[in-house]
Amino acid sequence: MQQNKETKGLCIALACEPYRFTFEMFKLLESLVQHSTLAFMNAMLREELEKLVITDYLTKLHTRRYLDEVIQTSMSSDASGALILFDIDNFKQINDVYGHQTGDGVLIQVAETMRANIRDGDVAARWGGEELAVYLPKVPLSDAISIARRITEKVREQTVPTVTVSCGVSWWERPGCENAEQLFKRADAALYMAKETGKNCIFVYDDCHLYKV
Ligand code: GH3
Ligand code: MG
Ligand code: MG
Repeated sequence: MQQNKETKGLCIALACEPYRFTFEMFKLLESLVQHSTLAFMNAMLREELEKLVITDYLTKLHTRRYLDEVIQTSMSSDASGALILFDIDNFKQINDVYGHQTGDGVLIQVAETMRANIRDGDVAARWGGEELAVYLPKVPLSDAISIARRITEKVREQTVPTVTVSCGVSWWERPGCENAEQLFKRADAALYMAKETGKNCIFVYDDCHLYKV
């Protein structure tokens, strides 16, 4: 099975008796293989494309669009969930001092720290330029705060050159008139407070209470 001179697979036809296959049979098989190669390649391309659409090219985290979908699904089937928004502090300065390439490297490091500190069912995404997000389905707020703390600490300790992040946490629980937009708005408001009160810290927006942890 060849495409663009590359071997993508192979088919083997076997029979017990010698000279079992006629030339016509060979031609038929050849044609079948050509057609199935095309179908095979289409399926692979489609899979690749689907992955590209939900993956951020730089950080290899999920895209914001995928995060939106996951939260919508979680809100219709789970009993609770938490959203953590991160924004890298003074990131413009990193670009100005070290250049954009190093800035990109820092973004990748922060993304890897996030990925390393969440579980399989959780979703880490690139929310905007230097804003990243984690959605944790089915977790109590206390767990979400622990994870936000862990990621914030690891970023502070392990990034080179060192950066810190500000963090906003919001949480929902059934029953309630939750929607994804409200969840985002509250995490964003918490993040805004973290920025306003000196950065490098975590704020939680729970019910109507906004507080530092
Ligand atoms: P603050 O602490 O208030 O968040 O300050 P900041 O400098 O991080 O925020 P500001 O919004 O002023 O600047 C964000 C910077 O992030 C500016 C932009 O060039 C940079 N940025 C956004 N996306 C990328 C990217 O993909 N790569 C690099 N290297 N920089 C990026
Ligand atoms: Mg920002
Ligand atoms: Mg920033």
